[in-house]
Amino acid sequence: MILIQNGAIITLDDNGQIFEPGYLTIEGDRITAVEKGFPDQKVLESATETIDASHKIVMPGLVNAHTHLFQTFLRGLGDGKPLQQWLEAYIWPFSSKMGVYEAQLAALIGLVENIHSGSTAVIDNQYVHNTPEMDDVFCQAAVQTGVRYLMARGWADRNYHPAFIETGEKIIERVGSLIERWNRHESGRIRVEFGPLSQPRCSIDTFEKMIRFARQWNVGIHMHTSETTIQTNQCIDETGLRTIEWLESLNCLDENTRLVHCVWLSDYEIELISKRRAKVIHCPVSNMILASGTARVPDMLKQGVSVALATDGPGSNNNQDMIETLKTTLLLHKITAMDAMALTPETVLWMACRNGAEAFGLPGQIGSLEKGKKADVILVDSFSSFAYPIHRVATTLTYNLHGSDVDTVMVGGQFLMKNKKITMLDEAYLLEECEQARKSLLKRAGLVSS
Ligand SMILES: [Zn+2]
Repeated sequence: MILIQNGAIITLDDNGQIFEPGYLTIEGDRITAVEKGFPDQKVLESATETIDASHKIVMPGLVNAHTHLFQTFLRGLGDGKPLQQWLEAYIWPFSSKMGVYEAQLAALIGLVENIHSGSTAVIDNQYVHNTPEMDDVFCQAAVQTGVRYLMARGWADRNYHPAFIETGEKIIERVGSLIERWNRHESGRIRVEFGPLSQPRCSIDTFEKMIRFARQWNVGIHMHTSETTIQTNQCIDETGLRTIEWLESLNCLDENTRLVHCVWLSDYEIELISKRRAKVIHCPVSNMILASGTARVPDMLKQGVSVALATDGPGSNNNQDMIETLKTTLLLHKITAMDAMALTPETVLWMACRNGAEAFGLPGQIGSLEKGKKADVILVDSFSSFAYPIHRVATTLTYNLHGSDVDTVMVGGQFLMKNKKITMLDEAYLLEECEQARKSLLKRAGLVSS
């Protein structure tokens, strides 16, 4: 049994309990107790490993509900460009030249970054399939690093860079075989579902076919939705409907539909999302970097919509730091509403963990520290001149601390990082390999002359 004691525990249970101090015990992959105060002698004696969490915040792992791990090799490229130009001039040429080796490194370093900043579950919208084995490489990186991983396997069958277009038949066949290979792997820690890129990139025929197979195979659909006015207007021009109305007309919306961005929504679209219990994934940093707009998050929350948080790909963020995303979410919606009470630290933590668990499809399993849930736990070091003195831990965590303050990370009872050291691989060696691979890939993509 592992015992974590002396820390300030943010449980994120239904009552929002915070124990200062508290302790928790873990057996196998589950949490067996979360209690206020100090453990008694019996608990102390039955612990095989005891972690002292003094001056640390203990909380559920964050869920990064939308990223593109392959873009780890693209951060900073094309800085300052709007979405379409950024895609055409940088993302497409670069990613179409990416091989299996670079994909593996991008996935590993991207997941290591997620671990360092406290994410224990990651949804990766993976849409680079230059070779048939590329998708498997990302799942293998999740096996190696120990992260809880959901691949929203991206697809497009029109209006996209030719290197990424597949036929409807190939899409169903390839996603189906991935689901077969991975969805029962590692006790369900790794899963694959559909990731249609966006309405303008997907033909209606393939989209309808995908909905049928998603229901048959009991997997979700994860899609960029209403990210920009351009995308939204393209949908209206083609179908006569706004994007969420179009999804409703196809009978696509249900609790397994995960809608990424949702920046440009009408009141009616918010109502539809709420009624169908579809999930929304908000990426504030990316929306700000690409100047896409501000999603109506407080309005959605008021309507009972489950809104999770995400970094989006490191190409448009340029990091995958979910603690930074907590603060950015707070600030963005306060200034947009001109209301200092638009969101609270507790609300954004709930969004990142509890709503994150729903977006990940595991609401009863992860997202809070409660007896019986999976032991996905992080310890964040708050003994810092950036934070002291501490009046309220939720405020300190969201406003004062940084991803780099995350000290220890555990997924399903297994340590992925201890005292800031990644346990599953040699991080320094990985960084060196990435730098070498970056240079040769840029050259191949024609983005640098030498
Ligand atoms: Zn994205």
